[in-house]
Amino acid sequence: MSPIPIPYFLLGWLSGVFVNLLADTLPVTRRVWPPVCPRCKTAQSWRGALGLARVYGACGHPRSLRSWVLPPAGAAGALLLWLYPPARFGFWAAWAILTYFAVVVVIDVEHRLILHPVSWAGAALGVALGVWRHGLGSTLLGGAAGYAVMLGLYAFGAFFSRWMARRRGEPLDEVALGFGDVNLAGVTGLFLGWPGVAAGLILAILLGGVVSGGYLLWMAARRRYRAFAAIPYGPFLALAAVWLLLWA
Ligand SMILES: [Zn+2]
Repeated sequence: MSPIPIPYFLLGWLSGVFVNLLADTLPVTRRVWPPVCPRCKTAQSWRGALGLARVYGACGHPRSLRSWVLPPAGAAGALLLWLYPPARFGFWAAWAILTYFAVVVVIDVEHRLILHPVSWAGAALGVALGVWRHGLGSTLLGGAAGYAVMLGLYAFGAFFSRWMARRRGEPLDEVALGFGDVNLAGVTGLFLGWPGVAAGLILAILLGGVVSGGYLLWMAARRRYRAFAAIPYGPFLALAAVWLLLWA
């Protein structure tokens, strides 16, 4: 470990820039390159992309709050990882895990999407880190278990929404659980391995239930109660996996 944290600061800043580029561009153009302004799809300037300008580029659209926050947050995160490296993973693996799940969470929160290329990249990273930490058998079993359990929940959610819609004589408008969540559960299972995936799923479902329950209560208090609202599991799966991998 270097006695000087400046390289870590820069590395963290660049991870924030990287997450911004993917989150701005991938859901809008379905491509990684070139990075675009998410509002009008014109190219970002290099200063905008690096987080050093008020606007994305020549279009003059102001950068989103998220694109301001992520580079310094990444720098702070890398400095924290350097100061307190997680026990089971060294700095580099922990940094890759945090950067990957930041991409997943930001895109999922902003677009309610877990994109296939992001899931495939996660599967590759999860297999590499999983085989290194738990061996091939545990990694594949963890991935299969995560995928199967979430697929079961997905099927149940789809059945339940259809049943509710028919009972209330309404058209079906929302699926309880997106299929991206199923892919992400498989990916987190690869990272966590077997039996770690069980703890990851339980923690994610509990977190999702508590937060969604709190949200429903808050809406009810404001008399905007909806009887049935979809729970977005993606961010909770990601949070649970990061917590268990790095700090549990
Ligand atoms: Zn623009």
